[in-house]
Amino acid sequence: EELYGINRWGIPYFSINNLGHITVAPKGNRGRSLDLFKLVKALEERSLNLPLLIHFPDIIEDRIEELNSCFAHAITRYNYEGSYQGVFPIKVNQQRHIVQAIVNCGNNHKYGLEVGSKPELLIALAQLKESNALLICNGYKDQKYIETALLARRLGYQTIVVVEQLSEIKLAIDTAKTQGIRPVLGIRAKLSSKGDSRWGNSAGDKAKFGLTISEIMEAIEQLKAAEMLESLQLLHFHIGSQISSIATIKEALTEASQIYVNLSQLGASMKYFDVGGGLGIDYDGSHSHFPASKNYSMQNYANDVVAAIKIACETQKLKVPIIISESGRAIASHQSVLLTNVLGVDKIPTFPIDIEKDKCHSLVQEMANIYDAINSANCQESYHDILQLKKEGESLFSFGYLNLKDRAKVESLFWQCCQRIQGIVNHTNTGFDGLETLNELLFSTYYCNFSVFQSLPDSWAIEQLFPVMPIHRLNEKPTELGILADLTCDSDGQIAKFIGSQEVKPHLELHQFYEGQPYYLGIFLSGAYQEIMGSLHNLFGDTNAVHVRLDSEGYHIEHVVRGNSMAEVLKYVQYDSQDMVETMRQKTEKALKEKRLTLKESWLFLKHYEEALCNYTYLR
Ligand code: PLP
Repeated sequence: EELYGINRWGIPYFSINNLGHITVAPKGNRGRSLDLFKLVKALEERSLNLPLLIHFPDIIEDRIEELNSCFAHAITRYNYEGSYQGVFPIKVNQQRHIVQAIVNCGNNHKYGLEVGSKPELLIALAQLKESNALLICNGYKDQKYIETALLARRLGYQTIVVVEQLSEIKLAIDTAKTQGIRPVLGIRAKLSSKGDSRWGNSAGDKAKFGLTISEIMEAIEQLKAAEMLESLQLLHFHIGSQISSIATIKEALTEASQIYVNLSQLGASMKYFDVGGGLGIDYDGSHSHFPASKNYSMQNYANDVVAAIKIACETQKLKVPIIISESGRAIASHQSVLLTNVLGVDKIPTFPIDIEKDKCHSLVQEMANIYDAINSANCQESYHDILQLKKEGESLFSFGYLNLKDRAKVESLFWQCCQRIQGIVNHTNTGFDGLETLNELLFSTYYCNFSVFQSLPDSWAIEQLFPVMPIHRLNEKPTELGILADLTCDSDGQIAKFIGSQEVKPHLELHQFYEGQPYYLGIFLSGAYQEIMGSLHNLFGDTNAVHVRLDSEGYHIEHVVRGNSMAEVLKYVQYDSQDMVETMRQKTEKALKEKRLTLKESWLFLKHYEEALCNYTYLR
């Protein structure tokens, strides 16, 4: 548990059982749990092969309940006379089954949706019930976007069009007039308080979205002139995702609360205070202000939101607003676990060598002598010596003074020396200069059946940390240190940063891999943003995905979404699989005619080709 930190980042959903398997308890301590390893085995028996994304909709529901309950507590604690009405930003995970689970479960809390584009608006309209739940319309907008959003009010939806660019004010006014609809409008403010995260550019003067204070004043003038100032009812801000420090959130809340009360005083019919996203996830479990963590709880967050707007309104004797948050990461991260299987391990090359010292090159002899003499007293000196000898070997080889056979011996002995030194140093805990480099030299590469670019794009693009660990054999001490390489032919396709107890680790503790035996790794907290941002690098497509719910008899598989076949992936890049098969058929006919292959071989080749097109893009 300590090695992987699961008792820090996994609470309350993930833990380890007495079989040494990871268990998932979607309702935390309040509910049942299932054995993840056994689940994967059962899914494989249904030919749902790895890599596999398992969604637990019960976890999403638990997160929605928790967020609403935190705001309910805060509202009680501060005698807040308004309410909380959250919305889920569907860009975080637009998968239909997930959005449906969110809408169904959110019904009790009037929990709505936030959209940032026209296609997302279409999803929200189709999924959301025409009820009191809000539909917040963000993002760049054209007339059609605004018109659809406004007309939807006639259908009974609570759409609120949030103006993100000054030009949208005119569009909204014109569209409202043409349609004869009184819109509810919001304004996104560019706060000067900037987020501290990797997504911190969402605020500040140069932010992509939002209106500066002078633009807000101009928007008010335009609305006044159109006699539509009472349509302005919402203030929105978003200072970036994964805000690690509560101080940043407090600062933004204070500034935004002041803008809110000023807008009220300027004559807008302010009713909603939309604090955007940013509520963080403790990916590394450190409860700190590190980028992969956060130094506050969901309850602290809700308390601060409620308190900030209450104080500002109370001071100015204004009615408090309905509070909206657009928390995405905090709702969706825990519900997905990506499972991958190890296909092979690339270890350092140490082949047993036969050293007949008198027949070998003197360099080999020297290296062999060092190996024999390594002990706890001389390992630092031996380490420096072998580094030097390895370098010399490489130069001698380049100048033709060392043959291939002897160079192989030097190399093999070097690695054996490294291993012996590492064993002594790790055992004796003595100070050793260069241990990190030595450890790095000795890492193994575990080849895993998945694509970082498809399933974990943020790990590649912005070096985001996700908890990764084996889901079984956890009663067994891991003996290896490794990094994970994916299937793509790209050296960036790897995970080489892992959660450590103090700091980021360049390696993961792993078990010895035995050919033919399963070794499954889970990548956790990956339910936000990853699925949709994944790309088809090397044409590895969507993975198989299942939605699993717990029930009184254990669990049931609610939905299966098969991963892409090769034909589907090829279609994205304009290849028609039928045409491809026909081309290959003609080529085999030609080869047959020229007697370059037999009929049986041609049949076998075409069979493989056709079958492959229908198959999963990953390895079996
Ligand atoms: N609202 C807006 C406008 C956003 O841009 C984002 C994402 O960056 C979110 C909400 C969701 O943020 P988070 O996932 O941090 O809750």
